[in-house]
Amino acid sequence: MQQIVPARPTAAPVPSPTPTFEELGVSAKVTTALRMRGIEQPFEIQTVVIPDALAGRDVLARSRTGSGKTLAFAVPLVERITPSGRSPSALILTPTRELASQVTEEFRAIADVCGLQIASVYGGVGIGPQAKRARRADILIATPGRLLDLVARKLLRLDRVRAVVLDEADRMLDMGFLPDVTKILQMLQREHQTMLFSATLDGEVGRLASRFTHDAVLHEVGEEGPIITDVIHRFIAVDQPRKTQALVRELAADRGLALIFVRTQRGADRLARNLRKEGFRAGELHGGMSQPQRERALGHFASGANDVLIATDVAARGLDLEDITHVINFDAPADEKAYVHRVGRTARAGRGGEGVTFVTPDQRLDVGRMAKKLELHAEFAKAGVPNNGSQQPRSGAQPKTGGQPRSGGRATAGSQPQRRPSCPSCGSGHTQPFTHGGPGARLNMTCIDCGHLFKDPTRRTTSSARRSDRSRRT
Ligand code: ADP
Ligand code: MG
Repeated sequence: MQQIVPARPTAAPVPSPTPTFEELGVSAKVTTALRMRGIEQPFEIQTVVIPDALAGRDVLARSRTGSGKTLAFAVPLVERITPSGRSPSALILTPTRELASQVTEEFRAIADVCGLQIASVYGGVGIGPQAKRARRADILIATPGRLLDLVARKLLRLDRVRAVVLDEADRMLDMGFLPDVTKILQMLQREHQTMLFSATLDGEVGRLASRFTHDAVLHEVGEEGPIITDVIHRFIAVDQPRKTQALVRELAADRGLALIFVRTQRGADRLARNLRKEGFRAGELHGGMSQPQRERALGHFASGANDVLIATDVAARGLDLEDITHVINFDAPADEKAYVHRVGRTARAGRGGEGVTFVTPDQRLDVGRMAKKLELHAEFAKAGVPNNGSQQPRSGAQPKTGGQPRSGGRATAGSQPQRRPSCPSCGSGHTQPFTHGGPGARLNMTCIDCGHLFKDPTRRTTSSARRSDRSRRT
């Protein structure tokens, strides 16, 4: 298998440890536009990438989330592209609609001064008006699916594209866009500049890079591996039924915006609803929402009108809000890559933040392994996740060996498997007894999906519950 050709060293050595944008070859008008946005000094990835990108070279760049990769390609592109107003000269592919919107905004701030038209295309909104704007754009930011759709319908041509950027390439491939991305790259004319930005350059990303770049310069900034600096990482041992309570405690902390990750769209809806019931200003963001709904949710979160956002992985990709102080993994991430992408939403642009991960007893091994790979084993050890299947000595919960809690049930010792009532809040049948052991405990149920606490409607009173308990045991 072909490997990434190791970089020839950057053509021109970096002039000083902290060069200015001008020293990197950026024009006065663009430098001024950057300064107007409070951007004075280039970040490290920008320092190394901009000179090569300005020289028209192919670039492979790896650096951590939040390190400023967008401007590393946006600045050289606005410098190199000349306005034509006919069809796009530069194309940026991003994995999600949210990221496309954000990249578009970053471009707008510096493209105006160069007289360049920017447009973005992504699914979930009407194709007609998008196509019209896309045709007139000099720089087009697109998600792969919608772009192919436009081309297939002959609403857009890509034959004038001279520069293409694959942004968040690793994520794009994780999301299954390899066939689409390949198709798009094959459509472009032979002579063009290709730049690929990613948090990792291994595996499939590396193969894509070696296939579609020519004599590329490789720039890697920061540690190889998924370490996120400036973030305090905490793992919290919690029993499944107590997750919502634990979350409420976390949210009571002194904080800015809190971004909470859950596994499913339904889970996001329910948790947001439950937090609103608890008095939090909480919204949700997931792929099952329409584009206007998603934009509204993002807008409310960005403005602070909602200071809590419950999101699924896909929806939150690339979300870049400096005020996010807490990322809470309500449902643990699937692996260390997902962890980095999630927790990378905080501590943006050198600010601090906290990444909090809830660990239920049955996730101990998986999350422990992930923490080790992330070099967060010390933080994980502090959580004291018990290895006997329960951290609540009185709960009577049995150890589980993975799988869905619903299958085996978190039965209190001595109880028989029984039909679970559906959650009155969300309708999920994914419920279990809330075993805190006090009087009437057996009446209490919790919804595994949304965390809602409720009384088992099939069992009326505490005493009748106890009676029926006794009768079952005998
Ligand atoms: P990445 O793509 O590497 O995850 P982004 O390009 O989204 O990172 O940048 C993260 C944040 O840093 C953004 O809010 C961006 O505006 C800001 N930023 C980028 N470059 C600079 C800079 N040179 N000075 C100050 N802030 C910057
Ligand atoms: Mg980025």
